[in-house]
Amino acid sequence: MSEEGKQIVIVGGGICGLATALALHRKGIRSIVIEKAASLRTEGAGIGIQSNGWRALDQLGVAHLLRPKAIPILLTRDLVLNNSTHQEESFKNSEFRCLRRSDLIEIMAENLPAETIRFGCEIMKIESDPIITSHTILHLKDGTVIKAKVLIGCDGVHSVVGDWLELKPTKRFNLCGVVGFTNYPNGHGFGNEFVRIRGDNMMTGRLPIDEKLVYWFVARPRTPQDTMVSKEPKLLRDSTMELIKDFPAEIPEVIQNCDLDSILLFSLRHRAPWDMILESFRKGTVTVAGDAMHVMGPFVGQGGSAALEDAVVLGRCFAQEMVAGLESERSKKNNLDWKEQKEEMEMSKRIEKAIDRYVKERKMRILRLSTQTYLIGTLLQTTSPIIKLVSFILVLIVFITFSNHTSYDCGRL
Ligand SMILES: Cc1cc2nc3c(=O)[nH]c(=O)nc-3n(C[C@H](O)[C@H](O)[C@H](O)COP(=O)(O)OP(=O)(O)OC[C@H]3O[C@@H](n4cnc5c(N)ncnc54)[C@H](O)[C@@H]3O)c2cc1C
Repeated sequence: MSEEGKQIVIVGGGICGLATALALHRKGIRSIVIEKAASLRTEGAGIGIQSNGWRALDQLGVAHLLRPKAIPILLTRDLVLNNSTHQEESFKNSEFRCLRRSDLIEIMAENLPAETIRFGCEIMKIESDPIITSHTILHLKDGTVIKAKVLIGCDGVHSVVGDWLELKPTKRFNLCGVVGFTNYPNGHGFGNEFVRIRGDNMMTGRLPIDEKLVYWFVARPRTPQDTMVSKEPKLLRDSTMELIKDFPAEIPEVIQNCDLDSILLFSLRHRAPWDMILESFRKGTVTVAGDAMHVMGPFVGQGGSAALEDAVVLGRCFAQEMVAGLESERSKKNNLDWKEQKEEMEMSKRIEKAIDRYVKERKMRILRLSTQTYLIGTLLQTTSPIIKLVSFILVLIVFITFSNHTSYDCGRL
């Protein structure tokens, strides 16, 4: 068993963990990312990024590397099946592109200092440091022990850091998501259009990534066969096709021709908006970001962008409050004299203040997004006409009140 002293430890090397490490790096603050997978996790096919997400990527200094990877989406065409309504929204004054997840993850990772990410390391247990109780001791699966001055949980929906913070458990929608890519070697010919179709308990859509590649998704009710079906790509595709066979052909055709290696099924979870109001999201110098903080349904395509915003705000708050002296080697020692202990306590207070600022700044934003996605999820998953009507009215009110979530600006790093 080896023991190491580290300053800032980020658990999870997904979108949020990498973005957080990048934000800190841009502000000259070192961190390490502990990732349990053996390499970068790029599954999940595509990810739609709208103006708010691009603003965050600009601040992280990687937007210019990502823009050439995806064509701009200029128009959304929305179709509601049961009342045949049809709506169009143009993106003339905003930015919307759908990226390959692999591009997003790989480019962020490439822009981090060498050896920032440690793969194949899983945090199993967290406990308080007996010397400075706001610091933590992390136990890894391979027996390594890491002492962390700051711990940021970007470890997704089943977050060990969230458990340490005693966050209320996340909840499951009665829906799941199926996603994939379809490649058209001679060009798809769909132009720069995002098509979305909503049925009674289902929603599906297709977005172009470039002239040849299309990302598609289906949100549909869970079934008892999902665990088995998720292991068989062809079965997953065929069962998904069966559910949307009555939808206009423009989406089923895409799914029929999909790349079976890319198809994936996700169960959909959310943190209830009412649970979020009361959470402080901090204990000592420990906090969470991304899905670990605010997992939400994918119905407005904002979970990943919200995670990028978290990273920018967290980086800014740390840089503002800090954290000169964070680089000190003291936390590696087991016995601090009283003066060193006092200085460490003062540093902890500053870190706590930075985290509180971050949480305060993020809370309303993620509460709004979570409320919107919770209501849309309820509207999709319920079979009760009364709940459907009430959810529909609330969605209208919430969308009017909270207006356009993509115009949000997380500010400068
Ligand atoms: C079907 C679907 C479609 C979506 N579409 C969009 C979209 O179009 N636009 C958008 O913005 N968002 C979208 N989202 C949401 C978005 O994918 C998530 O919000 C985002 O990926 C969250 O990133 P994260 O880094 O917080 O978590 P994750 O991506 O879950 O990363 C967590 C990481 O932590 C690691 N980890 C976990 N536990 C430990 C541990 N104990 N020790 C070490 N490592 C650990 C995991 O291996 C993982 O790499 C969608 C989500 C779904 C399900």
